[in-house]
Amino acid sequence: MTAGANPFQMAQQQFGAAADRLGLDASMREFLRWPLRELHVTLPVRMDDGRTQVFHGFRVQYNDARGPCKGGIRFHPDETIDTVRALAAWMTWKTAVVDIPLGGGKGGVICNPKAITEGELERLSRAYVRQVGRMLGDDLDVPAPDVYTTPQIMAWMMDEYEMMHGGHHRPGMITGKPVAVGGSLGRGDATARGGCHIVREAAAALGIETQGATAAIQGFGNAGQYAALLAHELLGCKIIAASDTSGGIVHKAGMAPDALVKHKLSTGAVSGFPGAEAISNEALLELPMDILFLAALENVVTGANAPRIRAKISCELANGPQTPEADVILHKKGVFFIPDFLANAGGVTASYFEMVQNLTSYYWTVERANEELDARMTAAFRGVHKCAQAEKVDMRTAAYMIAVQRVAEAVRLRGWV
Ligand code: NAD
Repeated sequence: MTAGANPFQMAQQQFGAAADRLGLDASMREFLRWPLRELHVTLPVRMDDGRTQVFHGFRVQYNDARGPCKGGIRFHPDETIDTVRALAAWMTWKTAVVDIPLGGGKGGVICNPKAITEGELERLSRAYVRQVGRMLGDDLDVPAPDVYTTPQIMAWMMDEYEMMHGGHHRPGMITGKPVAVGGSLGRGDATARGGCHIVREAAAALGIETQGATAAIQGFGNAGQYAALLAHELLGCKIIAASDTSGGIVHKAGMAPDALVKHKLSTGAVSGFPGAEAISNEALLELPMDILFLAALENVVTGANAPRIRAKISCELANGPQTPEADVILHKKGVFFIPDFLANAGGVTASYFEMVQNLTSYYWTVERANEELDARMTAAFRGVHKCAQAEKVDMRTAAYMIAVQRVAEAVRLRGWV
């Protein structure tokens, strides 16, 4: 994502490029460039000191031709309607590329959750659902946790929604809930697990042996820690480097990922891990390695550093970590990159499984949840890879082509355009 760029304009540009390749007609193109509907809400919240503070929030339903809208709710001081619109568009393409029967949406509240108490956070979460709840439901629009929202917040939101509906149980109206109130086993690590399944398929397609392959993790938070553990456990990779905001570390012989996670959780940083050497965040990206997991933030692989990237496979667990200029350079160099909305779709796929379990009131074992995830991610990768080869395009372009084509087909069959 280009710094300072309007994210929604960028989402529209990416869509436009796919629409060009697919030869979409002018009406379909105009229709899919915009959210179907959006709600702006004003939320009065009683604070602990007795004052009423007024917050502002949004819910955007980008497209629901393939099924109910799906997408997280962000609580962030810099939230804007254009960020929410862009993320809702990307959710539409993400659910389509993994072919789950859902559309795309996103929500947000402008607030700093770190600066309010737990009681205030609960009242804000409930106030949001009292306003937005009229457009939510397991057959309408299903939120989930996102930046600074948690399973606990999902439980409060579900409870408020059920109170608005006479106390009827409606657990499928929101996902990412704690397991005790209808959450799904296996959801915690699903983003990284799905990414590892995709890396396994990519490696097989490229003839790379993952057992003993070298891997580095940029961003050692939620997604990055699970990526390290699962790349080691499922793929047999050797974790040679990791980084977070404190800096990076490298250890060419490989690090035990469980010990590294323990070190990160106890000290708050990867730096100082016994036996590892310090390395800058920038240098980590340029190490010779087989697999690079990008799990930090947007805009880290750019036109400036792309010529120096030496990984064979780059897996975008973060959203928007690579710029369009970098796409061109890496594709030409033969670095096989897996685009964010395919690589990190394990999270929304597990959310879909949570909805399925809620709607049937029958709960799966973690083994079943993991197996179903593998099957979905593998099928999605193979479809996109086949398209990339047939059309002679990079994996991002191919993923967009498949996703936009699927949404356009549903829109056409419904007779909307
Ligand atoms: P997180 O906040 O838990 O972790 C982010 C990590 O990145 C932190 O350890 C932070 O120190 C590190 N970081 C920040 N700037 C860095 C830099 N310049 N260099 C190296 N490290 C840096 O967040 P998360 O939940 O793991 O999400 C990471 C990315 O993955 C985000 O883009 C998010 O949108 C995306 N994602 C996450 C999930 C999920 O299930 N967690 C699902 C889909 C997408």
